[in-house]
Amino acid sequence: MFEARDRVGGRVFTIRDGLHDGQYADVGAEMIYHGQDNILNLVAAQGLELTTEFSLGTDTPDIIFHGHRLSKEASAELAQELRDGVKRTPPGFYETVAQWSRRARLSEDAGKLLEAIAQGTPAAPLRLADSQELNVELSWGKGYRKIKGGNDRLPQALARGLDVRLNQLVRVIGHGSGGVTVETERETFHGDRALVTVPGPLVQELGFDPVLPAEKIQALLQLRYGNGTRIVSQFKERDLVREAIGLGCFTDRMPGYIMEQTMQQPGEHVVISGLAAGDVEPALMTEEQILDAFDETISAAVGRQVRRAYGYVKNWTQDPLTRSVVRAPLGDQRETVLPEIRRPVGDRLFFAGEYTDDRIGPGGMEGAIKSAYRVSRELLDG
Ligand SMILES: Cc1cc2nc3c(=O)[nH]c(=O)nc-3n(C[C@H](O)[C@H](O)[C@H](O)COP(=O)(O)OP(=O)(O)OC[C@H]3O[C@@H](n4cnc5c(N)ncnc54)[C@H](O)[C@@H]3O)c2cc1C
Repeated sequence: MFEARDRVGGRVFTIRDGLHDGQYADVGAEMIYHGQDNILNLVAAQGLELTTEFSLGTDTPDIIFHGHRLSKEASAELAQELRDGVKRTPPGFYETVAQWSRRARLSEDAGKLLEAIAQGTPAAPLRLADSQELNVELSWGKGYRKIKGGNDRLPQALARGLDVRLNQLVRVIGHGSGGVTVETERETFHGDRALVTVPGPLVQELGFDPVLPAEKIQALLQLRYGNGTRIVSQFKERDLVREAIGLGCFTDRMPGYIMEQTMQQPGEHVVISGLAAGDVEPALMTEEQILDAFDETISAAVGRQVRRAYGYVKNWTQDPLTRSVVRAPLGDQRETVLPEIRRPVGDRLFFAGEYTDDRIGPGGMEGAIKSAYRVSRELLDG
């Protein structure tokens, strides 16, 4: 395995350094969604522990708009407006969320709630997100879990005992009847087969010799991706912050969705994170400015200024080894585009990763794992 970074895990990334009280925060994937059995089985097989199940207020989400927390009644009304809108004006085939929200003539606040929801999943701008996949019931927030100690414990456990070569950026993959060659920045390796697992947007950057089939490149170019910056802040005012945001809430500020990460972690502090995604992703701001803006969002929720003990910002969109959050297929792309994207090239070149998976809804970790099982079957059947 060749990994360009100095760590395994990719978009599953946990930070510990700098945080007080031995607390930690997941900067990439945060939640294991209810019913995603492949990852649950893998976690168990690796002897890792899960937190208990959490559920966000999905029937009546917590909403902080216009600088204060909305009453239960006002929040319920907004959520209901979205749910009624979907029933009254069913989203159309290939219609984007932005198009649908205008056709459904949503109120301004319902539009803001939509934008906040979309920042969680698919983390894409509303003009790219599929309205038919809008989950206005917020069912993904029911019964989710995390890996105790940090989600990166899973990739670390999986990598143990494998021949992983870190700091090896692959530039070109040669493939043909004689086998494959993998050219990294420093060396060239030969093998029987290659499995490409870079994030989808980066398949478009890798050199393939000979060139990939045009249909595959066309399919890759059609698939859209979410974009986002993860913001993590640790605060001293644990009880106050908890009381204000609950397990998580939607806001009309940056970011549109914030969650607690320390529900089952010891310590006096509280760690809150958010994903500023789609068109809300900050641009032309320093990390300090982004953290200050995040503090303001939390302070608005709490009702007074809170003190940040530690902050961390990770822009996944500009990370040259990721360039995305997760894939965001539209319309029938699961049937038309994804099969082409994941199709092996001859019997030498295989493709796996979350972007190749046809799950509906969130769960990139589960998707990546499923894709590995698919490739195993392709290899065994081939
Ligand atoms: C902010 C954020 C929040 C998320 N939240 C969730 C969540 O709550 N739940 C969930 O299930 N999923 C979530 N996801 C999605 C999930 O993290 C990903 O879908 C999943 O981890 C992708 O796995 P992957 O193996 O396909 O890709 P990656 O994890 O990106 O792995 C690809 C690897 O390829 C390496 N690489 C890239 N280019 C090269 C090269 N040229 N040579 C060598 N190595 C290279 C990268 O360094 C990386 O390690 C989130 C993602 C992000 C960014």
